[in-house]
Amino acid sequence: MNVILFGPPGAGKGTQAKNLAKKLDNFQISTGDMLREEIQKNSEIGKKIVEDMGDGRFVSDEIVNSLIEKVLSDPTKKNKLIFDGYPRSLTQAKNLEKLLGKTNQKIDFVFFLDVNKDTVIKRIEQRKTIENRSDDDLTTIIKRYDKYMETTKPVLDFYSENSNFHELDGSSKIEEITSKINSFINV
Ligand code: AMP
Repeated sequence: MNVILFGPPGAGKGTQAKNLAKKLDNFQISTGDMLREEIQKNSEIGKKIVEDMGDGRFVSDEIVNSLIEKVLSDPTKKNKLIFDGYPRSLTQAKNLEKLLGKTNQKIDFVFFLDVNKDTVIKRIEQRKTIENRSDDDLTTIIKRYDKYMETTKPVLDFYSENSNFHELDGSSKIEEITSKINSFINV
């Protein structure tokens, strides 16, 4: 089963993606984690993206799409993908459709975790004390949220027409969201 978890930073996508991947024995595909790994390795990609990421800007579609292409073409991951933080722009959504078609796959469910700006700020400030991410300071959080609102609306429109699209209240308790997701996918 392939699932997209969609929503602003701090919506709880990572937590739900991790739970779901474990439950289904699937793979959590977090572009944020993949990009942070490139920075840690100090790879060519890592060097290119370090400033954009630290500053809360989106990394270029070209770079993100190239990382995703590797995942989609990996036969061991076929139909076992839980997308967390991808796609984030219309170009990425269209790229994903193309790659899914090419690899004979489809998206089974799209879950939109909706949370407001105040909740996002509170949650990310908490996360900063736990994970110490450099892009979790207040100015960057606000930038990331605003950037999300600006670019992801077309992505929402792209998916929300489909019957496999479900909007969930991202400010609910973690377990409540998990159980709603589980009931939709019947596990
Ligand atoms: P996340 O861990 O999902 O909150 O992502 C952290 C940062 O990584 C974002 O603020 C962006 O700079 C970058 N990033 C992650 N996923 C994407 C994506 N799909 N497209 C562009 N930039 C991304």
